[in-house]
Amino acid sequence: MIEILSPSELPRARETGALVANILQTARSRATVGTNLLEIDQWTKAMIADAGAQSCYVDYEPSFGRGPFGHYICTSVNDAVLHGLPHDYTLADGDLLTLDLAVLLGGIAADSAISFIVGDSQPAESVALITTTERALAAGIAAAGPGARIGDLSHAIGEVLSAAGYEINTEFGGHGIGSTMHQDPHISNTGRPGRGYKLRPGLLLALEPWIMSDTAELVTDEDGWTLRSVTGGRTAHSEHTIAITEDGAEILTLPH
Ligand code: MG
Ligand code: MG
Repeated sequence: MIEILSPSELPRARETGALVANILQTARSRATVGTNLLEIDQWTKAMIADAGAQSCYVDYEPSFGRGPFGHYICTSVNDAVLHGLPHDYTLADGDLLTLDLAVLLGGIAADSAISFIVGDSQPAESVALITTTERALAAGIAAAGPGARIGDLSHAIGEVLSAAGYEINTEFGGHGIGSTMHQDPHISNTGRPGRGYKLRPGLLLALEPWIMSDTAELVTDEDGWTLRSVTGGRTAHSEHTIAITEDGAEILTLPH
């Protein structure tokens, strides 16, 4: 199913997007050496409740996880890249942490992910992973607008990832979003321009390039949710929810 928002619904989508962005930035600013992943989950639970919003993750039971999820945010550390299940782990200097959050407010969902390095050290490989996914995300957004096709976005994202020397996994990618978190169309992180669904105003999309340092192969953790690089190499993931507008694309999940 592909949902198209009416112009009167866009302000509500902006509110959800701003909430997701602000929770992620607050969690990022608080997460430091010595923070436990379960604390981040509890902060997120409280911020969602304070806003009168609902988690898209609690009780989520998709085919790719051992459901129900049971937590409020995904916390993926180092070789973990997607769907990181919060657990009893204390962050150390130099850890590469990805926070991925989706929330429902006023009947509209938004979804965003950020990767960053905990503490003061800045390992070059981690910096390169993070900046590459951020550049790929920006390229995908730049390719989005009315009349563009999904393949144009996939191609733009994939070109950045490939040019930086990373292999691309096509098992998980971006997606439509609206009254629920995961909708059609699927947005692969590589593809051919000119192919696929044609974008139109009112469509909400979550774009989410992610990469692993030295492989494209995932392995599922014993927890049944967390997806890690098969080599143990580091990983990064960047995601925004955007709205297709009359003259381009608007990023909904920028912090205010
Ligand atoms: Mg997400
Ligand atoms: Mg997503």
